[in-house]
Amino acid sequence: MIAIDRKLSSLREAVAKLEPLLSPCRLCPRHCGAKRDKGEQGVCELDDKLKVFCCNLHFGEEPPLSGTGLNENQKAKGSGTVFFSGCNLRCVFCQNFAFSHNGNGKYMTQEELSEEMLKLQERGAKNINFVTPTPQIVPALKALLLAYEKGLRLPLLYNCGGYEDLEVLKALEGVVDIYLPDAKYQDAELAKKYSSAADYPEKNILALQEMWRQIKNFEYDEEGYMTRGMIVRHLVLPNALGNSLAVMDKIKEVFSDEKGKVPFGLSLMCQYFPTFKAKDYPELKERLTFEEYLKTLEKLDEMDFELEFVQQHDDCAEDF
Ligand code: SF4
Repeated sequence: MIAIDRKLSSLREAVAKLEPLLSPCRLCPRHCGAKRDKGEQGVCELDDKLKVFCCNLHFGEEPPLSGTGLNENQKAKGSGTVFFSGCNLRCVFCQNFAFSHNGNGKYMTQEELSEEMLKLQERGAKNINFVTPTPQIVPALKALLLAYEKGLRLPLLYNCGGYEDLEVLKALEGVVDIYLPDAKYQDAELAKKYSSAADYPEKNILALQEMWRQIKNFEYDEEGYMTRGMIVRHLVLPNALGNSLAVMDKIKEVFSDEKGKVPFGLSLMCQYFPTFKAKDYPELKERLTFEEYLKTLEKLDEMDFELEFVQQHDDCAEDF
């Protein structure tokens, strides 16, 4: 159970700190300065209105977030997911391009979004999962505040691309209970080529440091669902093994203790499939091979994360 008085006061402080950053916009590291309150759209293709693709129970996150808690025998309860439209990254292989890049979604009032969150709680969700919230963080937090005032008591999961502004993250202290950021690149050339964000490697590591500074440890409820924690996700791309190994090496260099232990979780994903603009890049046209994924798993074997999650590759008959 979250401490509601503390949560409400952290949320009010966060809104007060973040609202001035909305227009001209400095909510993500691009600092593109769009006058969003005047209807201008930034690189993320969003003005200041709340736009959401859908709100639903989602069962595909890591087990302690949406699946079975830490008990494989219990029925999955789901994560209360809010898929926000738009994104501050421009990934050419985006698997959510329909709403992250092509503008699908509907405008909602903060009141309407708060009601959707309460419905997710009624349906049994274990958390409220904000997917790609960064560009819309101001109206999203206002809606969340309304929902908590009306009885929401679920932890907030911040599920983002990992290209985050430090000032924004600092304002989220006490608001976010679980961070689920990507660590996409440590190769600046690839970050520029595929996501139009050459500074992703340095911004990402700074963001992970700030997130872990806030979270510090893991907590679970009586069913084994995470109520506090941090899991970093890395999607292994085809023909980019060096980047994946560099991401893992960098995390180890920055975060491991004297025994080599990294205090948060890592989720190593092989679900890449060519979609959106990937057809324009010959090296992205194929799925990831099992051999490529295996190399990253061997690297993971040498490391020691607090939690580790891997996926079943289609070309592998056996469970890992
Ligand atoms: S969130 Fe969007 S509008 Fe704001 S700085 Fe980033 S890309 Fe620009």
